[in-house]
Amino acid sequence: MTGIVVLGSTNMDLVAYVARAPKSGETVTGREFRMVPGGKGANQAVAAARAGGEVAMIGAVGADEFGEQLRHTLIASGVDTDLLRTAEGLSGTAHVVVDDEGGNSIVVIAGANHTVTCLGPGDETLIATAGTLLLQLELPLSAVLSGAEAAHRHSVRTILTPSPAQPLPSELLGTIDLLVPNEHEAAVLTGIADPHAAAEALLRQVPQVVITLGAAGSLYATRGAEPVTVPAPRVSAVDTTGAGDTFVGTLAVALCEGRPMREAMGWASSAAALCVQRHGASTSMPYRTEIEAS
Ligand code: ADP
Repeated sequence: MTGIVVLGSTNMDLVAYVARAPKSGETVTGREFRMVPGGKGANQAVAAARAGGEVAMIGAVGADEFGEQLRHTLIASGVDTDLLRTAEGLSGTAHVVVDDEGGNSIVVIAGANHTVTCLGPGDETLIATAGTLLLQLELPLSAVLSGAEAAHRHSVRTILTPSPAQPLPSELLGTIDLLVPNEHEAAVLTGIADPHAAAEALLRQVPQVVITLGAAGSLYATRGAEPVTVPAPRVSAVDTTGAGDTFVGTLAVALCEGRPMREAMGWASSAAALCVQRHGASTSMPYRTEIEAS
């Protein structure tokens, strides 16, 4: 394949909508419940496949009903799940409480994702044939590092979304071609709040950085060139969940097609803008025809 491999997480998001989140020891009656297939890895895989990429997913679901649903969601969007393992035990879950102010609190239980500590049989062979490997930080770091090193060995482009934000070992950053943090993650990685200054600091560790800036768009920086800012389309956002994953998945497809970075970022911004105008994460990710028509 010359497409995209995602080494990442799958989670079932269990979302309770309430007027006000309960305090410790308190019970409140919620308004609505939704079950949404998610996990940053699976979300990026769905976004890339819907944008027209040839996509395969490496990771694990649990041997439960959620696992079957998570696998089915990927397949339904055209993602190859042959190397997505079914691990003993439960799938990953995210327990989300969303209140009427739009605030949320989330408990993530890694479940099957926790079993992915290294590459499995066939994983490196698949990565070696890919154009791009997409990585995030919801799997054990040992697996992320093995995947990135395998890609690096075979000259496959690596794109890392450093989420959940945490300090990263230089041996991992040394294998990354493009780092795509949001503003908050860039600040955690560098200790610098200003995105331009943070991008400059990150360029000491990776050759290319795209920092996503929410409604303000995205910023591209590479060594030896002036940074480029690409604005986001002005839209009225109803739910920004999954915006970053839509951006990265779509960006990867455009780069695999050989488009220059500025054009790829424009395309990714159009896709992310469509995503934020709808509820949900994987459910709100646009198809290629929609991106091209926007
Ligand atoms: P994350 O979802 O990881 O927090 P951001 O909030 O930076 O990341 O959003 C990622 C991308 O999604 C942005 O670069 C932008 O292109 C798009 N986006 C996010 N929020 C909006 C918005 N309110 N209007 C238009 N585009 C948005």
